[in-house]
Order: sequence, then C-alpha cells, then structure tokens
Amino acid sequence: MTGFPQFVYHSDALYVESVPLHQIAEQYGTPCYVYSRAALTQAYRDFDTAFAARDHLICYAVKANSNIAILNLLARLGSGFDIVSGGELQRVIKAGGDPRKTVFSGVGKTIQEMRMALDVGILCFNVESESELNALNQTASEMGKIAAVSLRVNPDVDARTHPYISTGLKENKFGVPADEAMRIYQAAHLYPHVRFTGLDCHIGSQLTELSPFIEASGKMLSLLDALQAKGLTIEHLDLGGGLGIRYTDESPPSIQNYVAALCAQTARATQRLLIEPGRSLVGNAGILLTRVAYLKHTSARNFAIVDAAMNDLMRPSLYDAYHDILPVRSNGLATDTYQVVGPVCETGDFLGHDRLLALRDGDLLAVMSAGAYGMSMSSNYNTRPRAAEVMVDKDAVHLIRQRETVDQLIASERILSG
Ligand SMILES: *Cc1c(COP(=O)(O)O)cnc(C)c1O
Repeated sequence: MTGFPQFVYHSDALYVESVPLHQIAEQYGTPCYVYSRAALTQAYRDFDTAFAARDHLICYAVKANSNIAILNLLARLGSGFDIVSGGELQRVIKAGGDPRKTVFSGVGKTIQEMRMALDVGILCFNVESESELNALNQTASEMGKIAAVSLRVNPDVDARTHPYISTGLKENKFGVPADEAMRIYQAAHLYPHVRFTGLDCHIGSQLTELSPFIEASGKMLSLLDALQAKGLTIEHLDLGGGLGIRYTDESPPSIQNYVAALCAQTARATQRLLIEPGRSLVGNAGILLTRVAYLKHTSARNFAIVDAAMNDLMRPSLYDAYHDILPVRSNGLATDTYQVVGPVCETGDFLGHDRLLALRDGDLLAVMSAGAYGMSMSSNYNTRPRAAEVMVDKDAVHLIRQRETVDQLIASERILSG
C-alpha cells in the first residue's frame, strides 16, 4: 500500500497506472519525474464536480508544475490558469490554454509582462499594490485598452503553514490591506484604463485545516458587502489556492469538503467563484524516480547516495519538507536506517532523513508526492542537467520533457575574446 491510488504495488513491484516504474527507469533513465494522467484528471474532476452548483472557474496555479503537457491536459478538462510571469503566460498559450480564463498574480509584474497580457486579453490582473495599479493603468492607456483588475487583498489570516509559504499575514509582502483596498476601489475614477471586476486573496500554501480558508473568505465577503453598499459591481470572487496534500501523516481537508466550505461561506454572494489550486491538483499525481548510486556506511550513519539531488527536488532542502521514499522493487534484504542524499556538494542536499529501507547499489526508489513544486523549482546547480519527465496514461508512457544535456546548459555562455 502506498496510499496513492495510481501508484500501487503488484507482486512487489511499484507501478504507476499499468506500467512498472523499473521499466520507465530502464527506458528513460534516472532521475526522472513520472506523472499519472488518471491522478491529474481525477483531482481536476473532484474540484469541478464539487463546484457544480456554482458558477465557477478553476485557475490552475501554473508555478506548481508548468510542463506544457500538464497545462494542455488541464486546458482540455476546461481549466483556467493562474500565472505569475510572462513566461508562464507563454507556456499557457503554447499549451493551448485560454488567455480569457487566465488570471495574472504576483507582486512584481513588469511593464513588458503587462503588455503581453493585455495584448492576448487575459481575464484579470490580480494587482498587489497601488504602484502596480498606476503602472497598469498607464500601460493600458498607451495600448488603448482597459485592464480588468482584482485587488489582491491581504486578509491578515494565519494560514498555520511553513513561514516561507504563508502569504496572508499583514507582515507578508503580498496584497493590500482590506481598508486600503476599499479606498482604492472607491477611487476607480483615478484609473480610467482599469475596470475593477473582482476581489482576490491567497493566504498560503499546504494548508491542512479549513479554518484559515473560512476566516479569509468571511473577510472577503465582508469587503464585498462594503463595496456593493458603495455601489460598486464586483463580478467574481477569487479565493486563491493553498489546499494542502498528504505527504506523510497530514490529514488535509478533502477537495469536496474544502470546496463545500468555500461555497457555504460565500453562499449569499452571486458572483462567480474562482480558485487557484496548484499543489492539490498535481502534487500527488507525480513521483521522482531515482537510483541508488552508492551505499556508504559510517560509524555515525548509513547513507544512500542517489542520483537525484536538491537541484531536482528542492523542497526537503528549502522547507525541510517530508516526502515518502518507497522501494520500486523489493529485494528481500533486511532494512536499515538511511540518510537518503544526493550527489550535490552541500550538507543540505538530502531527500529524506532516517528512512527505514532495504537497499543495494543500483536499486530504484520512488520519492512520492513530487508532482508539485518539484520540476518547476529545479535548477542546474553543480551543472546537473535537469531530469526527464514522463506522463503515464494507462499502459502508455509519454516523454513530456527530454532530459537536458550539458551542451544545452553551456550553449549560451561565452569566453572572453582578449
Ligand atoms: C502559489 C500560488 C497559488 C497556488 O498555491 P497552491 O498551494 O499550490 O495551491 C495560488 N495563487 C497564488 C497567487 C499563488 O502564488
């Protein structure tokens, strides 16, 4: 039992859907990200079904995993997108996503990014400061366009998650306080090239409780009431992303309960509801497949040195995040306690501490729950080409990103001529 329905053992071999993971390792090499189309589809449908009674739009947060195959599958299911850069907008377009279902978040949008988004006609800019609003108004004016805007409100709610991914407290860099938002919406006449269409918040990531979401949506609803009392028309309410997933023993709310709570909390609003889930759509739809290079037994500890590293999956090093690490095939040996580490020259380069595993050199391991903030946060540190990515669909395996080559990494560098 792995706890993940699309990743299961059949007679001691770990499968993704109908394909044994060792077969993928043989064909595509390691490290390799492996995704399940069925798991991705199921998560999207769970959101969509739970929202069936409401006018809604699910805007997948592209930064969680931006491979164009994943964006394309979500677009085909009807998904919209939440982007945080012009680069992500280009990916959405390349993947066949609809710009008119795309919202643009982030505190530091450049003029060039605003131009690109205005040009393709995105659904809405989630604006995070008055300075940004001025710049957007100016840019839209130069282009003879009107920019649709939601202010991102910082509801000052404690998401009770890791401090690096908590975004809805007043000391965080994100959004504007509710009273300031109120003042800016009422000063709409100062921004003739902006149309205020929505209200937005996003309080953090990997939330494992409902109460912060409920508190934030309550505050958003109060603000909505106040704006409507002043005669402003708001067309949509964007409640952000942040629903957590199970990495080990967390028990986050189910997608159904989360959506039901958002709908109940906003029941008297007639506006269209938007959400921006990232992790909860892709996190448990992917794993990182890696091979043991060497075992090293010292008097203090046992190390399993694997061919994936912090550059491939940064979450353990960055957030001290926990990922389950499972054998791809059982080998009948006795277990030992291992530090599962990569080849990068940093003591912080680890995938898991104190894991009970039965290992030989050359064995394969699956680092679970690696579909979100895995590949998208990867780097080339130590001149390590980034991993290949494959998507499994029943018994078919599709390569969705080729393994990088060192030549590609060096190609744009230049030696001084004199
Ligand atoms: C990162 C982010 C999300 C997605 O968060 P998840 O925890 O992956 O659901 C949604 N909205 C905004 C503005 C974000 O920055």
